[in-house]
Amino acid sequence: MSRFDTVVMVDWSGGNDAGPTPKRDAIWACIGRNGETEDPVYLRSRQSAEIWLAQVFEAELAAGRRVLAGFDFPFGYPTGFAQTVCGTDDPLDLWHWLEARIEDHPKSNNRFDIAAQINRAAGQGKGPFWANALQRDIDGLARNKAEYANPFPDKRACEQQATGAFTCWQLAGAGAVGSQVLMGLPVLERLRRRFDRHVAVWPFQPLNAPIALVEIWPSLTLGREPEGVIRDAWQVQQVAQVVSTLPDAQLAQILDVDAPEEGWIFGLGYEDQLKPVLVPPPLRNDCFALPAGVDWIPVDDALAYLRSNLKPVVGKTICSLDAARGAVLAKDVKAFRANPPHPNTAVDGYGFAGGRPVGVHVLPLVADRAAAGDTPAPVGEGCAIRILTGAALPDGVDTVVLQEDVTLGDGQIAFHGPIKPGANTRRAGEDVTEDALILEAGRKLTPADLAIAAATGHGSLPVCDKLRVGVVSTGDELLPAGAVAKPGMVFDANRPMLLSLLTSFGFEAVDLGHVEDTRDALRARLNDGANQCDAILTSGGASAGDEDHVSALLGETGALQMWRIAVKPGRPLALGVWEGTPIFGLPGNPVAALVCTLIFARPALGLLAGQDWKQPQGFDVPAAFSKSKKPGRREYLRARMRDGRVEAFASEGSGRISGLSWADGLVELPDEGASVTEGDLVRYIPFASFL
Ligand code: AMP
Ligand code: MG
Repeated sequence: MSRFDTVVMVDWSGGNDAGPTPKRDAIWACIGRNGETEDPVYLRSRQSAEIWLAQVFEAELAAGRRVLAGFDFPFGYPTGFAQTVCGTDDPLDLWHWLEARIEDHPKSNNRFDIAAQINRAAGQGKGPFWANALQRDIDGLARNKAEYANPFPDKRACEQQATGAFTCWQLAGAGAVGSQVLMGLPVLERLRRRFDRHVAVWPFQPLNAPIALVEIWPSLTLGREPEGVIRDAWQVQQVAQVVSTLPDAQLAQILDVDAPEEGWIFGLGYEDQLKPVLVPPPLRNDCFALPAGVDWIPVDDALAYLRSNLKPVVGKTICSLDAARGAVLAKDVKAFRANPPHPNTAVDGYGFAGGRPVGVHVLPLVADRAAAGDTPAPVGEGCAIRILTGAALPDGVDTVVLQEDVTLGDGQIAFHGPIKPGANTRRAGEDVTEDALILEAGRKLTPADLAIAAATGHGSLPVCDKLRVGVVSTGDELLPAGAVAKPGMVFDANRPMLLSLLTSFGFEAVDLGHVEDTRDALRARLNDGANQCDAILTSGGASAGDEDHVSALLGETGALQMWRIAVKPGRPLALGVWEGTPIFGLPGNPVAALVCTLIFARPALGLLAGQDWKQPQGFDVPAAFSKSKKPGRREYLRARMRDGRVEAFASEGSGRISGLSWADGLVELPDEGASVTEGDLVRYIPFASFL
């Protein structure tokens, strides 16, 4: 069997939604191809779902693509039912039988009556169906199970195996699927008829047609949806994602089912293989390898290597807007709706049609008033309506005159022209048109991003999982902050600094503690870190000395790359991959550790987190200091802005932690030699630019 190019997953509903906002329990569908899914589609009613499905099938057929379409309701009933109802045990005859009888309109349908009809014929009016949810009583359909008797098995074989699956006999009540089946099968039957030999139904027919209809049950493999997300929308997207990545052979195996009468649930018995695996494969061991012959690297080259060698390592989820600030957007996002959605008035005043020339104009007022959120009746030609800021322009209004420019009389207004057509109004879509790209993948979402997403119809956004970054301090001389001081020992200053820095970058910081200078201890700690983190920052022990165990250990596995970067402050940066987890071996000196984190680790971690390459914004400002430097190394000075000039910390000693705390940012001096005197422009990068 050749592979499916497209999957369409549909979460069906027994009810219809007549309201304006998406509801949890209407129909949701999602298209996936090769693991990439489109935004879930909200289908308000079965009628619109049928049209949408037909359009999708049509388009896929035209493009020569094979489609696997999944629906979350049973395709068959327990053994014996079809035979009793329509005289054959072919479930597709039952589909046909139901299609001929079920009437389905947006606001009413006859499903309870058909169920009762079957009950009267098959089970003396006591079963198999139950739960009449209508006001009126129906002969043969019980409201509850008091008098219930079912001549058929309660569940299909697959439902007995799938824990938590509901019986198809219950038509109403929490979790009931009975109505979905009665209302779903006729739609599928019509699609079958419409696409005829292009459709095959699993597992009743051989899947040798371009479109396969398959019974799914998302709860079989999915856990709870994330907070604030519409469950059905999330589920169809997850299932579409997983199924669209299945290798052909695995899919063929899962579809190889013999259940000619009752049907089967896709994936039953293969749950473990169908769990969403959304995390990309780990980085390769050689991702920090430098081209042959490269030894001493200028800063810009080092950054360019990092930029071209690293890629996202985190998974993707859907996140409600409430929780999305600071998250990295996982996909480009388009406007569902224009902003403003309809033309509206920018001022309080009076609206009418067309501009007016120079001169006095008197217009009769209609009795209505248009305030924001109102939908007043159309305004007749030559009439005006009172209209308030933000109100949608009623039909017959395209121009507004300011209330300050109007004299209000008894049922009429007078004002002086000229006034241009369209004056004081905002056009629909003048800010954002429908379908326009509003946010690009890789952005770290700001409060304003959430505003534009909300305004254009989004309640949730696709985001990357937070990057988990571990921090380890190494060195026999280190004591944890706050411990009792001992001679010869220093307090571990890097760990609190790096952990909080990572948090402010928007990552999840994981404290991996302090480890003494032995290879075994470090090995154990890196194993532990690699298990729970996406990346690890170590500080100390990263040079080439006897006690430099980070570099030694990474060297043992062959995954060590010593980057000798032409930067001050900074020692070699030991980069490596430990059990698939990238390690940034920072120098131990707090000043160098901070500078290397900001300049190198920050943008690299950003890429791992799914972010765009982050270029910190600097500013050319007058220096309040003088300094000369030799060519060969780029230099970063601890610096801060005062009175429009940038000051540099008096000492450049790399152990001077006080200077870090004194500073608000860094001055970047170029690779070349430089001689700065007071008043010269130098590049200042505020710490906030690195966030
Ligand atoms: P190393 O890179 O291990 O040779 O350390 C260089 C210098 O940084 C030494 O003076 C260390 O004591 C100091 N150092 C290393 N780690 C830390 C830390 N976590 N906090 C404060 N100082 C440190
Ligand atoms: Mg050390």
